[in-house]
Amino acid sequence: MVFRTFLLKYGEIGIKGKNRGQFEDALAAQVRHALSKVEGEFEVTKEQGRIYVNVAEEDDSFDPDEVMEALTRVFGLVGICQVLKVPVGDPDQIAEDAVRYIAQTYSMVPALKDTQPVDKEAPARPDAISFKVHTRRANKQYPMSSMEVDALVGERLLDAFPGKMKVDVHHPDVMLYIEIREEVYIYSKIVPGPGGMPVGTNGRAQLLLSGGIDSPVAGWMIAKRGVALDATYFHAPPYTSERAKQKVIDLAKLVARYSGPIRLHVVNFTDIQLAIYDKCPHDELTIIMRRYMMKIAEEFARQDGSMGLITGESIGQVASQTIQSLVCTDDAATMPVFRPLIGFDKQDIIDLSLKIGTYDTSIQPFEDCCTIFVAKHPVTKPRLDIIRKSEGRLKDVIDEMLEEAVAKAETIRIT
Ligand code: ATP
Ligand code: MG
Repeated sequence: MVFRTFLLKYGEIGIKGKNRGQFEDALAAQVRHALSKVEGEFEVTKEQGRIYVNVAEEDDSFDPDEVMEALTRVFGLVGICQVLKVPVGDPDQIAEDAVRYIAQTYSMVPALKDTQPVDKEAPARPDAISFKVHTRRANKQYPMSSMEVDALVGERLLDAFPGKMKVDVHHPDVMLYIEIREEVYIYSKIVPGPGGMPVGTNGRAQLLLSGGIDSPVAGWMIAKRGVALDATYFHAPPYTSERAKQKVIDLAKLVARYSGPIRLHVVNFTDIQLAIYDKCPHDELTIIMRRYMMKIAEEFARQDGSMGLITGESIGQVASQTIQSLVCTDDAATMPVFRPLIGFDKQDIIDLSLKIGTYDTSIQPFEDCCTIFVAKHPVTKPRLDIIRKSEGRLKDVIDEMLEEAVAKAETIRIT
């Protein structure tokens, strides 16, 4: 018996009234997108505050674990259940299906696995599975009340697995849900979803994506709030290698597993970096470079229809992320800059990157464009007026260089 239905639960907060339909449509679209990478034929439907995924009856190619894995990356979902869906039958039929469901779903639990005959009169064994049945009767025409179905199914389970199951209404190991709707849905395990909001319900933002640990996590966090992403990466060939670029493409792919498609703009930053290196005080290199990164990323944000920028900065992590440095960087952007990691310790960020699967790629040792032109003693408390004055030394060339960097950038579509 293969369960061909997945029940998807989502949070209700903030989706009252008119927003609800939009929220559900966006969520269904993201579910379809996530499943487009999984082998199998899936139908995604919305019904009465629920989203269901049904696998075509004749389709045997699908792997339920792969489906579950893909669904646990869809923002907006709070729970995912594999469901046994059966036609509405009489109560005896429902009880029989519930027994079948338990036998299959918990076949690996020691108590059920044990095929030794049991004395029906003996008390429940210590490792018996405790359970509670919870029936919901959305179809009010059904001839039996929810509580009567609970009682009947409970009784049948005790009979079917004598000594191996016991009732516990307070802290059951297994909550068995039975929903009587147009059809009967039987399920028990609710796998937590990632939470958040469906991507596409909160606009679009431009992520400054480097090859480090932080920026992919920052992008993931903003996408989790329902924001679609595009990204800009600055490299400095020949000072940075093709492998460094590939690493960023790989990171964008990992983030896109959650966020959906990303336009990745790869900007050749070499000439601008060399010009800064040539003309500006070396202890200000990183700050000035960061300011031009903001300006270029903002131009792509405009082109892509974004309303904000995202960086992986966190207060005090390095010299270029002191409050004074952030003030200088911020000044270069006119759009809001989202810095979701601002108050995170490095270890918190590492933990998140492990959880979302970007860590192993992030720690591959390839040069980032910033590490090549860094000063030995960068300013930690830059003053905006001084930084602006230093930038003045580039005034004859910089506008044209920025335009050229944007015009010559390569755009890669990450799906
Ligand atoms: P990360 O791990 O994200 O690289 P980091 O700790 O190395 O961060 P910095 O190198 O100071 O920190 O970079 C701060 C932020 O600036 C990054 O999180 C990223 O958003 C942006 N950034 C830095 N370098 C680049 C780059 N080469 N291309 C695009 N964005 C960059
Ligand atoms: Mg970095």
